[in-house]
Amino acid sequence: KVAIFSCKPYDRRTLEHFSQTSKELEFSFFESRLSQETMTLASGFDAICCFVNDDVNNNVIRYLAKQGITAIALRCAGFNNVDLSAAKAAGIKVYHVPDYSPTSVAEHALALIMTLTRKTHIAYQRVKAGNFALEGLLGFNLQNKTVGCIGTGRIGQAFCRIMKGFGCNVLCYDVSPNEALIDLGCQYTDLETLYKKSDIISLHCPLNASTHHLINGKSLNKMKDGVMIINTSRGALVNAQEAIDALYSGKIGYLGMDVYEQENRIFFEDMSSHIIQDSVFQLMLTFPNVVVTGHQGFFTQEALDHIAITTVDNLNKHRKA
Ligand code: NAD
Repeated sequence: KVAIFSCKPYDRRTLEHFSQTSKELEFSFFESRLSQETMTLASGFDAICCFVNDDVNNNVIRYLAKQGITAIALRCAGFNNVDLSAAKAAGIKVYHVPDYSPTSVAEHALALIMTLTRKTHIAYQRVKAGNFALEGLLGFNLQNKTVGCIGTGRIGQAFCRIMKGFGCNVLCYDVSPNEALIDLGCQYTDLETLYKKSDIISLHCPLNASTHHLINGKSLNKMKDGVMIINTSRGALVNAQEAIDALYSGKIGYLGMDVYEQENRIFFEDMSSHIIQDSVFQLMLTFPNVVVTGHQGFFTQEALDHIAITTVDNLNKHRKA
């Protein structure tokens, strides 16, 4: 018996679909986020299944162990919301879904780029209003532009391949370079060179102490005037207030974001009230050269299927172990 937390209708559909052949797995679906306040919902189950926003802290783990729960199957790649040492001490096995959506996120970065280069977000609104004027919609080609990719792991690598396909010069920065990208014709440089030469900079590194607010007033000043910044990684890689200053000055010419520093407040809770409370986010939405999506980079049918298949596999593996 498995309790599925933070369960959206699309999670339920894919999990039910891919567990059809494993009748031994019995799912109960909870929309609630798992936390100390909701952990009693897990009572009576053998395993739980969580997402990025569930808070599986030490107290929750201790409670789960007391209930006889022996597995946590995460429907995401990262473990940062689970106290892994507490789980180990309690004898609870933690499973995850590695690299479920590199292509999905990389393609979403491309979607943000192309929305901004061709201003399709503005064009669509105009056409809906019966206005076919092209004034203000002048775009630019990606071909021969220099694209800087910061972080060339699974998603960054997929992104670089896409941008090479568009005929871009691709500059990369990573603490551990990837030989395959060099063979593809991408060039690793230091950050300073990447900042100086790139027309578009896309972030694909994790959020950690060295990358927190990587994009700030100081780094932006080293970039080309009118640079395009794309963030599909983690919100806190960008200092939002300083990005707004750079939008006002024209240093940032285009900004595409799928993630935002305060997104746990904005996207995972009551969206309508929280968006209004966040004045920096509100201000960002007023710029015509800013496109924001609500952490949907991973959200393709292929990625959801992959998550559900791997989760069902993980739970079956655990059942048989
Ligand atoms: P990954 O671990 O495969 O790659 C991360 C890369 O960043 C690695 O090559 C690592 O060496 C590099 N790196 C680490 N520290 C760095 C630094 N200081 N400077 C430059 N590079 C550094 O991760 P991934 O699967 O490619 O995911 C990248 C990020 O995308 C994740 O951190 C995650 O936050 C984000 N993500 C977003 C979505 C979404 O829906 N928008 C979905 C999945 C992942």
